Amino acid sequence: MDIQENPITVTSPLLPPLKDFIPYLEDIWQRKWITNNGHYHQLLEKALSEYLGVPYISLFTNGTIPLLTAFQTLGIKDCEVITTPYSFVATSNAAIWNDVKPIFVDIDEKTGNLDPNKIEEAITPRTKAILPVHVYGNPCDTKAIQEIADKHGLKVIYDAAHAFGVKKDGKTILTDGDISTLSFHATKTYNTVEGGALICKDEKTKAYIDSLKNFGYTSEIYITETGINGKMDEIRSAYGLLNLQNIDDAIAKRKHVAEVYRKALKNIDGITMFEENSSVTYNYSYFPIFIDNKKFWTTRDDLFINLRANGILSRRYFYPLISNFKPYQHIPSASRENLPVANKMADSVLCLPIHHLLNDEQLKRIVSFVMNPNGGGT
Ligand SMILES: *Cc1c(COP(=O)(O)O)cnc(C)c1O
Repeated sequence: MDIQENPITVTSPLLPPLKDFIPYLEDIWQRKWITNNGHYHQLLEKALSEYLGVPYISLFTNGTIPLLTAFQTLGIKDCEVITTPYSFVATSNAAIWNDVKPIFVDIDEKTGNLDPNKIEEAITPRTKAILPVHVYGNPCDTKAIQEIADKHGLKVIYDAAHAFGVKKDGKTILTDGDISTLSFHATKTYNTVEGGALICKDEKTKAYIDSLKNFGYTSEIYITETGINGKMDEIRSAYGLLNLQNIDDAIAKRKHVAEVYRKALKNIDGITMFEENSSVTYNYSYFPIFIDNKKFWTTRDDLFINLRANGILSRRYFYPLISNFKPYQHIPSASRENLPVANKMADSVLCLPIHHLLNDEQLKRIVSFVMNPNGGGT
């Protein structure tokens, strides 16, 4: 196998069987209704609300517009929001697009999520909301966060882009807080090519969200807010319906990958992994390992380069931290001193390939290259 032309990628999109997709396309061509809350859009909202166990879901064209719209839905503007630096940049960008200043709070090493013990000291009279991320699909301490929010009269928006289908004690985590956002990007566990959703808890809020994602129209001739175009089309809705049929199988295959890594990499000097919580149903969206440069045979960055040279594409999610990107560096809470845990994790993380198509031979190859100082391989 030519490893340069056929590298092992960090993820691979779950694609519906093409032959199953064609009849859907023929039907869409027949209907001649290709976007604007069409037949498949409605079917996918219904199917997702059942699959995820959430009462109200609004589909979006990607996972970033729902974040923008979440602020608008809850009336959060011209204020501060407490958020995590350890995420994909869209989380904080969404605040800036709403004229909201992100205030960075450090994370908990056990989950990679916002540390509830550090939230209260960051609250000011200008704080209106908390924007945590269930990073890698690890559930946040939603109970502790809600207690702080209630005490201080704050809204909670969960960026649940990684948390498709994740449950705690058998119950979805997507109805915690005031609103949750999902991403169905090609790189996520469940994808609609590009896509996303907002999850809310009442019909009135869903109607408001649906008007905000449709320019702010509340009827044919009324605009009441400056909304945006966040609509999902029929083609991707149909694709999404088909992918829902295979998602459980894909997650089971990811789980196997995670188990292989866990077994092979436990008790290795210089590698740490998250501990699994037995009350959580995971979606195995990522497999991060954390490298101690002093204890492991090589550094995180050299391991990353080495793997790539051998056709294994790992990713340093989330390095650099959002707080270290140019648009955010000037914010006082973005300093390294304020975020020691997040900086340490960003400097040591490496996400290994995990997806539904990886086979045991490839996994063996990845593990051996991670562990073997002499170049690995078998
Ligand atoms: C992927 C992702 C997003 C953005 O989703 P898109 O669908 O790519 O716009 C937002 N937040 C997090 C944490 C993500 O990983």
